[in-house]
Amino acid sequence: MSELAGKVALVTGGSRGIGAAIAKKLAANGADVALTYASAADRAQGVVEDIKAAGRRGLAIAADSADAAAVVAAVEQTVAEFGRIDILVNNAGIFPYGTIDEVTLEEVDRTLAIHARAAYVASQAAAKHMEAGGRIVSIGSTLAERVPYPGVALYAMSKAALIGFTKGLARDLGERDITVNLVHPGSTDTEMNPADGPQADDERGLTALGRYGQPEDIAASVAHLVGPGGRNITGSAIVVDAGSNA
Ligand code: NDP
Repeated sequence: MSELAGKVALVTGGSRGIGAAIAKKLAANGADVALTYASAADRAQGVVEDIKAAGRRGLAIAADSADAAAVVAAVEQTVAEFGRIDILVNNAGIFPYGTIDEVTLEEVDRTLAIHARAAYVASQAAAKHMEAGGRIVSIGSTLAERVPYPGVALYAMSKAALIGFTKGLARDLGERDITVNLVHPGSTDTEMNPADGPQADDERGLTALGRYGQPEDIAASVAHLVGPGGRNITGSAIVVDAGSNA
């Protein structure tokens, strides 16, 4: 498929899991793809090799999403290397766990920086370069809308911030024909949340379909939003969770 031919995408946190699946899917659909990572240079390069095997240009950029300047630099490096940016996917994430009496101020600041501030500054930097038809997608979480167990208030707060951000930015960029959307994964089989992990059976039990999702399930919805089929969807969210929030 080549519906993204001529487009350039940047996926944050693309070295593994959901981000890697998104990067490979966008390349399969014809885009050149840059991806950031925090520490896994070898794995990021492996994803780049997969992108190149699909016949597209790929680029791995070390950029800690907790560092706003590094996030902006990653956007600028993408434009410098590939000449443009059409698609930004704010995916990089962590999973802080702890009840309110356990979480430190440092964890609060780092989580908000990675999940909320990085999405803001990356979008701000990318929007400067985007033409009509540009696309911004952030990866939220079902926990932004429903929290069925304790220990995730910080995570839920940081992901809920993306709901307001997405709606507001859709209004800011609508007149330039740039869409802004959110994809909320439910339990998805990655290193962050393995389908054979200690909480997995409980999480599976919350779903209507009785199963975890795969990273490719999230990538498919992102691909729809950034492709021609997504042209009239903005300020919106798609929940890909096997029905856990139903
Ligand atoms: P993984 O832990 O499997 O992968 C995380 C990715 O983000 C890696 O590429 C990692 O890079 C990168 N990353 C982590 N911290 C930073 C940072 N500070 N700066 C830059 N990159 C960073 O997670 P998932 O693939 O499962 O999660 C992807 C997104 O989906 C996250 O936003 C997560 O919150 C969200 N999500 C996941 C769910 C799930 O069940 N898996 C459910 C709901 C939402 P490196 O390899 O270098 O460490």
